[in-house]
Amino acid sequence: MKIFEYLQKYDYEQVVLCQDETSGLKAIIAIHDTTLGPALGGTRFWTYATEEEAIVDALRLSRGMTYKNAAAGLNIGGGKTVIIGDPYKDKSEALFRAFGRFVHSLGGRYITAEDVGTTVQDMEYIRMETPYVCGIVGQGGSGDPSPATAYGVWQGIKACAMVKWQDNSLKNKVIAVQGLGNVGKNLCRHLAEEGAKLIVTDINEKNVEIIVDLYGAEAVKPDEVYSVECDIFAPCALGAGVNDNTIDLFKCSIIAGAANNVLQNPEHGDALDKKGILYAPDFVINAGGVINVAEELNGYNKEKAYAKIAKIYDNVLGVFKIAERDGIPTYLAAERLAEERINKIGKVRNTYVR
Ligand code: NAD
Repeated sequence: MKIFEYLQKYDYEQVVLCQDETSGLKAIIAIHDTTLGPALGGTRFWTYATEEEAIVDALRLSRGMTYKNAAAGLNIGGGKTVIIGDPYKDKSEALFRAFGRFVHSLGGRYITAEDVGTTVQDMEYIRMETPYVCGIVGQGGSGDPSPATAYGVWQGIKACAMVKWQDNSLKNKVIAVQGLGNVGKNLCRHLAEEGAKLIVTDINEKNVEIIVDLYGAEAVKPDEVYSVECDIFAPCALGAGVNDNTIDLFKCSIIAGAANNVLQNPEHGDALDKKGILYAPDFVINAGGVINVAEELNGYNKEKAYAKIAKIYDNVLGVFKIAERDGIPTYLAAERLAEERINKIGKVRNTYVR
């Protein structure tokens, strides 16, 4: 792998390889951009086929965090860690404490949190060695980010409704929610409380039963959800829901949900644009969790955090304004929103202050 060529391509700042033989730690911390502030991004614990695959994943994810944090209006840069290993077999107190010491050695340039394969308990171990960790419970921690993410997605959906129908009320709107896990179930609660009509699906039937019982939702099979007649499709399962097989099935006016990487390829964003389906870019609408966790850096206060998450409404509107201004699809406009903020704030910080 031509590592410096790769780093130059997207202007990465720093990559740190961390090794501890006793605990078996093999971690890669990637810091993409700290123009706006310290790099914040979770720690992924995953089995990778090769070391190169792990490095590329850390780099790709850290750059994604730069965009997500910037578009969310945070004074936070983008970073991410991957730890190579099996999350079911290789995790230990010693490993996370060894990792915590490496995080500490960066002096606050990088702040970590949970991600796929890591838990609140793992963050507690890291916290024993460094204060540069978020997503803990108690001691000023913000706890489970999923309700915050769901709250932000709800606000983002309302912004979409405003643009599509000049009215942000979701009362009587038919909304298909795919995936009723931690975020999806909380989103359903907000939508039902506002009077939306829910169509729901999940591969786990128990999750479906709960939402049907609670909110009188209509249940459909997982492969039927793409083609149901609805106003809004809210993907809250895994990524790549908009792909070659599904793109022609949608009968909705809006696609807006919590899932990461909703578009399998950028071309699918172009296709939605051509079909007149309004797409709320994933990293803008699903930023509630990171906004919530970043509030820990200011001393966590739930009311303040949720007031910031509510701004996802404005952020989504901001994306649509850029899309209209520049005549580009919304997924590209989201990147532009982030880049414009980084450039503007970066310039502000050029002024010398003693
Ligand atoms: P989760 O694992 O709790 O829930 C996902 C649900 O989707 C599960 O109930 C699962 O059974 C279901 N599912 C999986 N494949 C499916 C399919 N093909 N059809 C229907 N249902 C399917 O995850 P979560 O925390 O609720 O996150 C949901 C999505 O939102 C993920 O893409 C995640 O990356 C993204 N996200 C989550 C957060 C957060 O705060 N949890 C933040 C940002 C983004």
